[in-house]
Amino acid sequence: MRLILFGPPGAGKGTQANNIANNYVAAHISTGDMLRAAVKNGTELGALAKSYMDKGELVPDNVIIGIIKDRIKEGDTKKGFMLDGFPRTIAQAEALSEMLEAENESIDSVVSLEVNDEEITNRILQRAKIEGREDDTEDVVRNRLSVYRNQTEPLKDYYRGAGVLAEVDGMGTIDEVFQRIQAVLTKV
Ligand code: AMP
Repeated sequence: MRLILFGPPGAGKGTQANNIANNYVAAHISTGDMLRAAVKNGTELGALAKSYMDKGELVPDNVIIGIIKDRIKEGDTKKGFMLDGFPRTIAQAEALSEMLEAENESIDSVVSLEVNDEEITNRILQRAKIEGREDDTEDVVRNRLSVYRNQTEPLKDYYRGAGVLAEVDGMGTIDEVFQRIQAVLTKV
């Protein structure tokens, strides 16, 4: 199965990504995790990425597309994968479609977690306390949400048009949300 897990920051993507990875797919590909690892390792990519991440802006498309191109070629993706945090722009989605088409493959399902803004803000501020993520300060969070609404949310129409969008209510407990996701994935 080839999946995209989609949703605003604070929608519970990370938690549900782990649930899905444990039950359905071989490769869990999180661009956010890959970038944070690059920052931690002090690589050139990390230094570049950090300047965007700290402001809640998106890392440029060509950089992210290059990372995904390399990652998707690795052997563990052959049995299926889940993209978590990618694509985030129409250009990224188009590049992904091209990459998959070249292998006669396509995305089976885009699971979109739907959570209202008030709940998102509460969850992110809570996470900031627990994890101390540098991009969870209030200003940066606000910017990440507006970047999401402007640049990423339009992807829902893109995937709706492709007939693969599944909107899932992201409110409720972790188990409740995962049950709704499972209901979608059993039909894929
Ligand atoms: P995440 O953990 O998915 O919320 O990603 C954290 C940050 O990494 C984002 O706010 C962006 O700055 C950057 N990032 C992650 N994935 C992407 C992507 N697909 N395109 C551009 N920037 C990204």
